Amino acid sequence: SVNSGSPRDAAFIMENSSLIIIVPGYGMAAARAQHAVKELADVLRKKYNVSVKFAIHPVAGRMPGHMNVLLAEADVDYDDIFELKDINREFSEADAAYVIGANDITNPAAAHNPDSPLYGMPVLDVGAAKTVFFVKRSLAGGYSGADNPLFYAANTVMLFGDAKKMTEEIVQELEA
Ligand code: NDP
Repeated sequence: SVNSGSPRDAAFIMENSSLIIIVPGYGMAAARAQHAVKELADVLRKKYNVSVKFAIHPVAGRMPGHMNVLLAEADVDYDDIFELKDINREFSEADAAYVIGANDITNPAAAHNPDSPLYGMPVLDVGAAKTVFFVKRSLAGGYSGADNPLFYAANTVMLFGDAKKMTEEIVQELEA
């Protein structure tokens, strides 16, 4: 079983947070959600004084630098973007990780399960955050096809839907 939530649920947790780390993946690119993500970061900072950082995995998306290009296009400040090795330890201090259209790059099986196709790949430690939001349309696997045990974790809230639409709806809730 999984916990699933609504845009309102997500907004409630976010507006009461101090630090949120956004983790973009292939689905953000597929949904063209980068501008909505920038709006989310802006409203959290300006209206709720939340610190917002972006965590980029070296193979997030479908080509090296894919996420960096999209975030730059949306005018996300370069200083707010952190590489895996520089931010991984901060997830344990984050109130929430907002994982948008990312899957394999967060899969803890990569560290623990020798049978996983991802075994040996470094991953973003999103499960260490107090709450983990996964924005995706289903429980389907990512590029590797591997199941992600984090979807079933007690501190995970699945936000089922298109990455752009879901993020826009959360922004609307935060602006209301
Ligand atoms: P993944 O492919 O692991 O996961 C992407 C997720 O996005 C899917 O699980 C999918 O779930 C979701 N998604 C797709 N479309 C949408 C949408 N419109 N709205 C919301 N969610 C959506 O991507 P990651 O970025 O996490 O990982 C990259 C993977 O690609 C790694 O396995 C990496 O090795 C591989 N790769 C990377 C390359 C690179 O150079 N960067 C090159 C080749 C492969 P759902 O269907 O449920 O919505």
